[in-house]
Amino acid sequence: METSAEGAAEAGGSGAAQGDSPVSVDPATTTEAVTTGEPVTAVEPVTTVEPVMPVQPTATAEPVTPVQPTATGAPVAPVEPVVAAEGVAGVRAVAGGAAGVVGGGAPVAIVPASLSPSRASDFMQCPLLYRFRVIDRLPEKPSEAATRGTLVHAVLERLFDAPAAERTAPRAKSLIPAQWDRLRESRPEVLELFADDPEGERLARWLGEAEQLVERWFTLEDPTRLEPAERELWVEAELDSGLTLRGIIDRVDVAPTGEVRIVDYKTGKAPRPEYAEGALFQMKFYALVVWRLKHVVPRRLQLVYLGSGDVLTYDPVLADLERVERKLLALWDAIRQATESGDWRPRPTKLCGWCDHQAHCPEFGGTPPPYPLPVRAAESGDRTQGRMGPD
Ligand code: SF4
Repeated sequence: METSAEGAAEAGGSGAAQGDSPVSVDPATTTEAVTTGEPVTAVEPVTTVEPVMPVQPTATAEPVTPVQPTATGAPVAPVEPVVAAEGVAGVRAVAGGAAGVVGGGAPVAIVPASLSPSRASDFMQCPLLYRFRVIDRLPEKPSEAATRGTLVHAVLERLFDAPAAERTAPRAKSLIPAQWDRLRESRPEVLELFADDPEGERLARWLGEAEQLVERWFTLEDPTRLEPAERELWVEAELDSGLTLRGIIDRVDVAPTGEVRIVDYKTGKAPRPEYAEGALFQMKFYALVVWRLKHVVPRRLQLVYLGSGDVLTYDPVLADLERVERKLLALWDAIRQATESGDWRPRPTKLCGWCDHQAHCPEFGGTPPPYPLPVRAAESGDRTQGRMGPD
């Protein structure tokens, strides 16, 4: 799933460059095999690795399922996912340290208790943004792009309810109205997007764009040949250090041989190759969680960009996941120090243009709300909040 910030990042092509990984961004024009009945894996010719596998029904393969965190690390506050908002979902600390309850229905300040790919990216982009989203939980306006992404994800997920032969583009597009109704019911705030559109022209155009994205998916993958092991899979794992990682994986394919492919849909455009590593950070995060849960290194990570018709793949090895784990531990250490000290630095970039919190940001003449958590004096050994890339 993507957040508004991730959508902005895709549009803006941000991220850290690291060009020596076996990453492949395949334009849609290379995927002809999908529509001519070749194995699914022929879609992504990653020249440096073996093809993954044709994905068949997984009668013998053990699906990747969320399991209880291993109890090997330091205890953390019990958490409950906040699932209402895709973009700013945080984790509410229900014991052991929540502070600063704000009355009148305002958001409740929370102590960070776990890390998701989106929030990790937030901190790497701008520590103050992380604070606004996770600790202050300041509200954010829905965006057309993020809401369209949520709608398209729902359609692609529901399509797999149909028998394989019926997973056609017309069938997928026919799901859009009902999924839009469901989205409006579950998140009424999205109606704000079209409050100034009494004739419904902008809504019709927006729904048409969603249709195009859904249609493009059929040029990239062939759902009649796929039988996902999991869709919209909630995963959570605790590292030995006590850090809890969590997230939602769009799709998990498991071959009869047990090889795992993690798939994520993006409704934006593929990043330029020099930024591919930043885009893959989320996927490596998920691969790390799967590895920790199932002791299996996923065979392939696959990002499907519906906005530009590209498929970006990466075949991780154990060293990749160990590197991501070290990175996340360092990130979490920096987050914990900032939480305790109250020192959350703004880090202005071109992505500020998509930030909902400029009115509270010193970089734009604003003032953050009073810090709602207890603080301690900074120690000389505290690390600075220097720029942290995704890998
Ligand atoms: S506007 Fe301020 S808080 Fe938002 S991303 Fe930019 S620097 Fe960070």
